[in-house]
Amino acid sequence: MLSQTEASFRRLLPLLRPYLRQLMLGGGCTVIYVACWPILAWLAGRLIPSIGAGELNKVIQVISIALIVFFIQKFCQFLQDTLLAEPSLRVSEDLRKELFSQLQNIELEALEKMSSGDLTYRLTEDADRVGEVIYKTIQDTTPCLLQLIAVFGYMIFLDWQLSLATIILAPIVALLVSFFGSKVMLAAERSQKQVSELAGLLAEAIQGLPLVRAFAAEEWLQKRFDKEVLLHRQARYKTLNLLALQHPVVGLIEAIGILSVLTVGAARIQTGNLDGQGFSSYVAALLMLIDPISHLTINFNEFKQGQASLRRLREIQNNPREQQDSPNAKNLSNIKGSLNFRNVSFSYNEGNKVIKNLNLNIEAGKLIALVGPSGAGKSTIFSLLLRFISPQEGEILIDSNKLSNLKACDIRKELALVPQNNIVFSGSIKEAIAFGRKVTMDEIVNAALIANAHEFINKLEKGYDTKLEERGTNLSGGQLQRISIARALIGNPAVLLLDEATSALDAQSEDAVKLGLRQAMKHRTVIVIAHRLSTVQEADQIIVLDQGEISEIGTHNDLISMKGPYSDLCSRQFIHQHEDP
Ligand code: ADP
Repeated sequence: MLSQTEASFRRLLPLLRPYLRQLMLGGGCTVIYVACWPILAWLAGRLIPSIGAGELNKVIQVISIALIVFFIQKFCQFLQDTLLAEPSLRVSEDLRKELFSQLQNIELEALEKMSSGDLTYRLTEDADRVGEVIYKTIQDTTPCLLQLIAVFGYMIFLDWQLSLATIILAPIVALLVSFFGSKVMLAAERSQKQVSELAGLLAEAIQGLPLVRAFAAEEWLQKRFDKEVLLHRQARYKTLNLLALQHPVVGLIEAIGILSVLTVGAARIQTGNLDGQGFSSYVAALLMLIDPISHLTINFNEFKQGQASLRRLREIQNNPREQQDSPNAKNLSNIKGSLNFRNVSFSYNEGNKVIKNLNLNIEAGKLIALVGPSGAGKSTIFSLLLRFISPQEGEILIDSNKLSNLKACDIRKELALVPQNNIVFSGSIKEAIAFGRKVTMDEIVNAALIANAHEFINKLEKGYDTKLEERGTNLSGGQLQRISIARALIGNPAVLLLDEATSALDAQSEDAVKLGLRQAMKHRTVIVIAHRLSTVQEADQIIVLDQGEISEIGTHNDLISMKGPYSDLCSRQFIHQHEDP
């Protein structure tokens, strides 16, 4: 499992390719920076005995050289840090972009099952942590490793036998670091999962706060929240405990190592194998190992926590993708808007058909009402038409083109959706209607005119430049509905898929929306998931769905006189509504 994730970090390497030149320049600075360490150790070897002997001139001479070396070294460190920071930040930026674009391509069915809080946490905190690991690996871990190699190489050059004695404890330190590292990774994974759950609950709680208040359920929610916070604290505490134990244990072993070196060194001097100057250089070099070792230990822990984050990001990437266009997908143009379902069957889960052998022919320009109890399959029909999902059996055709042979973006240009809930992104009204499509102001105004939204937009102080707040809370429900209709009309789609809102508006807003809809419906095929009697009465054809099958089909009057399921549904669902004649 571990090696798989390590390979995942390696899989990020191609992202560095575009920044190779900068990396090489930064790498060059690292080499100079690292090479200065053995020189400084050598200078320390000259300096310490001279200080002991009181040779001031020699001391000043050595210190002057050391100052120049320090200056060069620190300047190269500055260049290294600035040159390497950009590529590592770019890689984490690229990773974030890649993840977001993958998120946009995840099959909607899989996306709906994910918690938005959890996803947000993964795409912010986890992505940050991975970015931090990339940054540290390039800008800190690599120079530290090189420093370790260079300084230790110099120590071997000075006295290989003493070096051998020095590294006897190294495997124990490495084992301990790796042991703690894997424990830290597991603990970090648990703690990150806990934060995700907390974020999920928070997202739910913030949205549902009015409901919680209405049901006086604050205490219940507080208890749930307290429990999550407690679990988070416990999980985080475990990680911190491990780190708290790791530092003194590794530090103790390091101290034992240094004391042993001093003892063995004294013995080597006594036997004449090493002089005082060499030993001074050796000890200075040894001290130069402490800093990179401690950095490497910390970075290794962060690397392990980063691996846990990377694994959580990979989980997002492992979700099924939206069906790709077939390589020889046709372009769609001049569509009239007839729709044809031929023996269409669909199931979300194997063996449980939600749409059963559906055959349906919808002529262009007609208004079709879909009615039926909840769970009958009405929304699934919309999803099939928009090719969010594809039938396991049968074919759906628009004019005479099979949906499976078309480009998804073409389908969604010709079939526009007016969803039940008026989701809008924050931004200006103009942007909300254009919704990322390249359109002229005239086209926006024209769509708003048809949707009966132009008048109220014009009355707003900033007109089309009025900023919509998050979830459009500064507009009324009816106004948002009309914006949502205008948004669907951009590009003049041949088919309108309308999921009628269930919640009633006040009479005046209802009339305004109705006028907008009536105008929007002209000259195009409309399929509406109908909840209002007026809509079904106006429909050219009403399709009554029950458990994924058509149970009745006809006009309002036909179906009422048949006294079948539709007439029952009418008396149960619409009876209380006061509708236009
Ligand atoms: P309607 O719009 O008529 O209320 P739907 O098309 O939403 O009905 O649902 C039809 C059936 O498919 C229901 O039994 C529902 O539980 C099921 N269903 C809908 N969406 C999914 C999904 N994403 N995964 C699994 N089952 C689903």
